[in-house]
Amino acid sequence: MLRCAVALLLIACGSPSSAEPHEPAWLAPIRDARPQTFDHLQSLTDAAGPRLAGSPGDRLAVQWGLNKMRALGLENVRAEPVTVHVWVRGEERVEVIAPVPHRLAATALGNSVGTPPGGIDAEIVRAGSLDELRALPRDRVQGKIAFVDQIMERARDGHGYGDAIEVRRNGASVAAASGALAVIIRSIGTDSSRFAHTGMMRYEDGVAQIPAASISNADADVLARWIANGRQVRIHMELGCHDEGEAQSANVIGEVPGTDANAGIVLLGAHLDSWDLGRGAIDDGAGVAIMLEAARRIRHAPRPARTIRVVLFANEENGLAGGRAYAAAHASERHIVAIEADFGDGRAIGLRTPNRSAGWERVATLLEPMGVEWDRSSDEPEGGADIGPLHEDAHVPLADVDQDGTRYFDIHHTANDVLTQIDRESLDHAMRAFAIVAYSAASDTEGIR
Ligand SMILES: [Zn+2]
Repeated sequence: MLRCAVALLLIACGSPSSAEPHEPAWLAPIRDARPQTFDHLQSLTDAAGPRLAGSPGDRLAVQWGLNKMRALGLENVRAEPVTVHVWVRGEERVEVIAPVPHRLAATALGNSVGTPPGGIDAEIVRAGSLDELRALPRDRVQGKIAFVDQIMERARDGHGYGDAIEVRRNGASVAAASGALAVIIRSIGTDSSRFAHTGMMRYEDGVAQIPAASISNADADVLARWIANGRQVRIHMELGCHDEGEAQSANVIGEVPGTDANAGIVLLGAHLDSWDLGRGAIDDGAGVAIMLEAARRIRHAPRPARTIRVVLFANEENGLAGGRAYAAAHASERHIVAIEADFGDGRAIGLRTPNRSAGWERVATLLEPMGVEWDRSSDEPEGGADIGPLHEDAHVPLADVDQDGTRYFDIHHTANDVLTQIDRESLDHAMRAFAIVAYSAASDTEGIR
């Protein structure tokens, strides 16, 4: 009678059904408990907002991370110091003077030098790619602003980013080698809005350091049309960005200790810093929230043998200092696998594993009903930027939960990276997949090694 009443109640409430007979007992609570992912994300973006390494927001985020981990019941919560390079954006103004006045949605690229006093006034010269820019005769580029107009391709797996990123990273040095005064690039992003996408650039040794900015895709279209119609385009550019030396930030670390101290560590990583234009919701507040919620669920489940260690890395965006510091300090510890969430709020769509053992096969079977496909073709998960040094220096195996990134690069590194853009349902879907992978890796000591 009681059973009937409970069953009726479950049906009436639309609650998820209890574990199927073939499912492990831990699966239902890990998968089906009411998610707090969005609450964690809202808390971070409201408490710290933009949090570029070394900025006031970055310091607030470290404090937030410590408080949140303790509130969620994680143990051994600590901040491990990381020295970061500080870059400050300052005021910026980029506008078309001719053929007709037009204020561009533009922003400096991270690490760019500023413009000289009074700014730069110059004609632009367009190139469709870095190779096209390199091929232009020097006298076409000298004394001008180079405009690299390469369009990023939208893709579910985000591969267009890898194809386009060199324009952002190296455009200034390629332009400077031909005598350009500055470089502007079409945003590395897939939206058609008037948001410019920032991101890290660097200068090659031995080449003049010239200012570098991106402009929104919609504005790049305007410039490209004028140029295609033979119009001469002149731009005024003022960037107030500058370096401010070094500062202290921290990797924020907390654990769900395993029952066997010798059984090793499952590392769940995300990065706590963000670019300064938006509020770091999709990049990487989403990953932070996913990993904290996964750990919270595991803390309330039967304790696995292995330790779950959540690492919220410092300074992924502008130099990877947190990932390097963690690898240097912890390479000798026994990490079973490292997993990172740094691809926003998209649904989980794929699983990549370091091998095809029976344990990983079991994980794939649990994820399959969620629409997550096991990529058996590769033994080389990509990991994430922050866990890259640990993989390279200490050969720690990686596993990937691939997310749907179709929308990710519409928002990535823009002023529009705010909580309002987050899709709660897909965020929670991804979180469930990460939580299942993490719990499996921590508990299946025979199958996953
Ligand atoms: Zn990121």
